[in-house]
Amino acid sequence: MPSVYIKTYGCQMNERDSEAVAAQLVAKGYTLARSEAAADVILLNTCSVRDMAEQKALHKMEVLMHESRKRRPEVVLGFLGCMAQSRGRELIDRLPDVDLVVGTQKFHRTAEYLDEILSGRRARVVEVDAEARSEGAIREHLLDGNGRKSVSAFVSIMQGCNQYCTFCIVPYTRGEERSRPIADIVGECRELAARGVKEVTLLGQIVTSYGKREIGARDGQSAFVQLLDAVHEVEGLERIRFTSPHPKGYGDDLVAAYGRLPKLVESAHIPVQSGSDRVLKLMHRGYTRARYLELVRQLRSVQPNIGLTTDFIVGFPGETEVDFEETLSLVREVEFDQAYLFKYSERRDTPAASMPDQVPQAVREERLLRLLQLVNEVAGRRYAALVGRRVEILVEGVSRKNPARLEGRSRCNKIVVFEGAGRHLGQVMEVQVTRAGSFTLYGDPAILE
Ligand code: SF4
Repeated sequence: MPSVYIKTYGCQMNERDSEAVAAQLVAKGYTLARSEAAADVILLNTCSVRDMAEQKALHKMEVLMHESRKRRPEVVLGFLGCMAQSRGRELIDRLPDVDLVVGTQKFHRTAEYLDEILSGRRARVVEVDAEARSEGAIREHLLDGNGRKSVSAFVSIMQGCNQYCTFCIVPYTRGEERSRPIADIVGECRELAARGVKEVTLLGQIVTSYGKREIGARDGQSAFVQLLDAVHEVEGLERIRFTSPHPKGYGDDLVAAYGRLPKLVESAHIPVQSGSDRVLKLMHRGYTRARYLELVRQLRSVQPNIGLTTDFIVGFPGETEVDFEETLSLVREVEFDQAYLFKYSERRDTPAASMPDQVPQAVREERLLRLLQLVNEVAGRRYAALVGRRVEILVEGVSRKNPARLEGRSRCNKIVVFEGAGRHLGQVMEVQVTRAGSFTLYGDPAILE
């Protein structure tokens, strides 16, 4: 059987989609190639959220067409994911050597399409139509990648987004919100636990909208909180995370869940995007700075040590220096543990792309640097404050920074590197933090339990 190599761009949803496609191909007899050079099929799972990500994937495909194709004319080349969805046939017109273009509701059919191409039944496949119930088709897992057995796994609970933030292309590439049934997700979590997984991260573009239409609220509990309760019952699972929620979907029931469900870890990634109400309104985010701050206050009153992370976009059209100062002051006020920062990137057909007062690139860059400096300074203090404390970690494997050591993840979502032994792999254990580095904590092996 042929070998396949999948290169993934973009977010955790894309990582998860690639994993599921790879697992589906393995189940059909494909092998996973270690490099592009050794692969019979090379697939690029693309991202459209920023122009840079699209340009990278396009450039990569051009290089593959010139290099891999020249050496081995029979190699199959394909695009998957968001850019495949938004550009469709246009990709083939631009890059005629591409054999396969698979949209975001067709991932699960990749093996079928490859069969058709490899057997000569179809010369080229472009499939980007919507497909009912495709949200339930991302469920296979590869738990033995990179020489280590995974003790944590991502579980896709829904697809799509109905929020239509004015800068975002996702509602157009991923479609309307569609949620999997609770029983289906719980079944997948049970299978993962039986395979040794101890931590699941429930994934969706906007998980707080999970099941709004299909399941609805019951006894004051949103469908998402009902799902958390059901996953919490799965034996063998020790930790539950989720990403990404939307600030406006964080109801009192979800805040209370942090105090009620011991497996729900003290960590939340809550994208805020801007500290200015004027910009939040232009972005169509649906909350104010005051509401966001109130949410942070509520969460910290339930879980004082909760790790809070966020996303910011700087240089959104119309963002003034005063608006940007409000973003800086929000960082100081909340004291995030980490923030992912992005320069605004125009996406075609989104409302923000044609808004007046586009911010010059040089100003976007300058603001990004200033925000980065502040975020690092604040996060540095948050990490340093953990020195001397005991934290519970789930040991994930060998440290990516130092292969002689192990690394685990704290409940508040911080990597902790320590000198451990094989018996610690996959264990939930306590470590004393002795030092804080850049977005990494270090534990003293002498004080290991
Ligand atoms: S909530 Fe907004 S930013 Fe997030 S995926 Fe939906 S439209 Fe995009």
